[in-house]
Amino acid sequence: MLISIVVPVYNEEENIAIFYNAVTKVMSGLSYEYELIYVDDGSTDSSVVILREIAKLDARVKVVLLARNFGHQTALTCGLDYAKGDAVITMDGDMQHPPALIPELIRLWENGYDVVRTIRDSTEDASWAKSFTSKYYYKLMNKMADVPIVEGGSDFRLMNRKSLETLKHFREHGRFLRGIVGALGYRQAELHFVAPPRFAGVSKFSVRKMIRFALDGVTAFSRVPLRAALYVGVLCGGLSFLLILHLLYVYLTGQALNGWTTLGVSILFIGGIQLVGLGIIGEYVGRVFEEVKQRPLYWVKAAINFDGENPEIAY
Ligand code: UDP
Ligand code: MG
Repeated sequence: MLISIVVPVYNEEENIAIFYNAVTKVMSGLSYEYELIYVDDGSTDSSVVILREIAKLDARVKVVLLARNFGHQTALTCGLDYAKGDAVITMDGDMQHPPALIPELIRLWENGYDVVRTIRDSTEDASWAKSFTSKYYYKLMNKMADVPIVEGGSDFRLMNRKSLETLKHFREHGRFLRGIVGALGYRQAELHFVAPPRFAGVSKFSVRKMIRFALDGVTAFSRVPLRAALYVGVLCGGLSFLLILHLLYVYLTGQALNGWTTLGVSILFIGGIQLVGLGIIGEYVGRVFEEVKQRPLYWVKAAINFDGENPEIAY
């Protein structure tokens, strides 16, 4: 039995060695063969140099170099495509997903679970703003999405071969793996943990990337916002009908110059609502646009320590 551990890396030069040592230590205590697949997501620091060094010393370490930065979710997808294991574990390379939990994930898999998801109960160094927005984002998602998306869900998880092969058929752009895994079904277990602070360096998720990721999650798994735009439109239509009656009344009773405020406010209000509606539609049209281009999800510069070592383009 082979275990694959997939780790996306983007400018993690200070974390790679410590993570490698921690995983090696944990895995040496288990009776499984394993491969450690690092996916370099277009790092611009010395991450690649360090990864090449480690791969030279340890044949269990495999490295895929993406041609540029594709983002965390796509880097994960690439690693999953390359993984050969009977079970695959995905985790972050900054020690926020504790390697010490790996045996527990494996134990649940041995007990017959197809997917073992982990749930972050809290993150030790997360800012107030990040914890707050994350909490309410998940609450909102759960109300809207067609699939279960657990609060605190993370991309630290184990999947068996069967669930991984199913997941590999999901090739959508603007990926939200937590939602896709939730949609898979099968037997899923949950494991709670507290994420320690990042070992070194800073979060690679800018506010822009976070917003993009959050919007991808919503638009990939829910059409509620589109419907909401419709409902708000109907509501505003009703309200403006009442306003028209009022304006007619004002006109007929000869007080036509009154009501500038009402007019101004209603124009701004309805205009604003329309823009929000258009924006929501735009988000979904944007997703359609990304899909119809049918571009590959990622492409690879080099693959190290794999049989054949052939870099490939993955659709
Ligand atoms: N990451 C990546 N590509 C990106 C951003 C992040 O491969 O564009 C990696 C990063 O190196 C780390 C993991 O994804 O191993 C999680 O990122 P990070 O720790 O910055 O996210 P946070 O924990 O702050 O949510
Ligand atoms: Mg992190």
